[in-house]
Amino acid sequence: METLRPRYLDEYIGQQQVKENLRVFIEAAKMRNEALDHVLLYGPPGLGKTTLSNIIANELGVNIRTTSGPAIERAGDLAAILTNLQEGDVLFIDEIHRLNRTVEEVLYPAMEDFALDIVIGKGPGARSVRLDLPPFTLIGATTRAGLLSAPLRDRFGVMSHLDYYSVEDLVKIVLRAADILSVRILPEGAEEIARRSRGTPRIANRLLKRVRDFAQVKGDGVISREVADQALQLIQVDPLGLDQVDHRLLLTIIEKFQGGPVGLDTIAATIGEEPDTIEDVYEPYLLQIGFLQRTPRGRIVTPRGYIHLGMTPPEK
Ligand code: ADP
Repeated sequence: METLRPRYLDEYIGQQQVKENLRVFIEAAKMRNEALDHVLLYGPPGLGKTTLSNIIANELGVNIRTTSGPAIERAGDLAAILTNLQEGDVLFIDEIHRLNRTVEEVLYPAMEDFALDIVIGKGPGARSVRLDLPPFTLIGATTRAGLLSAPLRDRFGVMSHLDYYSVEDLVKIVLRAADILSVRILPEGAEEIARRSRGTPRIANRLLKRVRDFAQVKGDGVISREVADQALQLIQVDPLGLDQVDHRLLLTIIEKFQGGPVGLDTIAATIGEEPDTIEDVYEPYLLQIGFLQRTPRGRIVTPRGYIHLGMTPPEK
């Protein structure tokens, strides 16, 4: 997968607005010879947040240090990372909403004043010493900006929302990946994969690899529309890209809860998935294509959802 990651903005497909803005901010920071303002990237998994962070560091010509919210357990862990940064470096924290409170508080002065407050000693004799840090750029990634505490969110100068990709952009992503992997593919084959990738580059790349296996073993190695369609049916990815979990989720609400409304935790317990996984991975796309609705009383399957599953929506 690493080889498929675009390394510069020009290779990063789609997300036009986000790219254009970043290009200006990066250029300006370089002209002033300053660290880029802190950037928050948010959006569903697999849309290119990690990729974009690496690109920002490449475009700035600086090093990137990568970690994640759950990986930083103690304030001291973060202090060690921060003091090892060089001027202008990028620190990328994935799943930044999962930082614990004490670690987060170390981040506030670091982001705002490039300073680290260290407490020396204990009890009445304890005193706080301020250490200077080199100016750096924090890039945080999260699935939802609303998961961040307000004081943390407020310290980001740039907030960029990544949205699901259009089919046209995903076709370009599939063709680019096929080229890198030396896979022979027809434009219609690429389109079939793109349409079934739920707007997500990571899924597009994954499906391309599965279809490639199928084309090699069962066909002549070329991915046509038919080959793509057969392979995707075989791995149970439906014509809109919904997989078994999506189907189970919708069917559970319909069959066990009369189509809803039903609460997230109840759905999660019934289908045996984590509520967070449902909320971050499955729901956003089902909401986006209008198969699911979120109401104050819970989730509802829409008439379009019923029809897609070949079922009749209930009378109003
Ligand atoms: P996230 O961090 O948002 O979960 P990643 O940055 O890991 O997503 O992206 C997943 C994969 O999708 C990457 O390995 C990369 O190959 C591909 N990808 C993401 N965005 C793009 C893009 N705009 N153009 C081409 N490939 C992309």
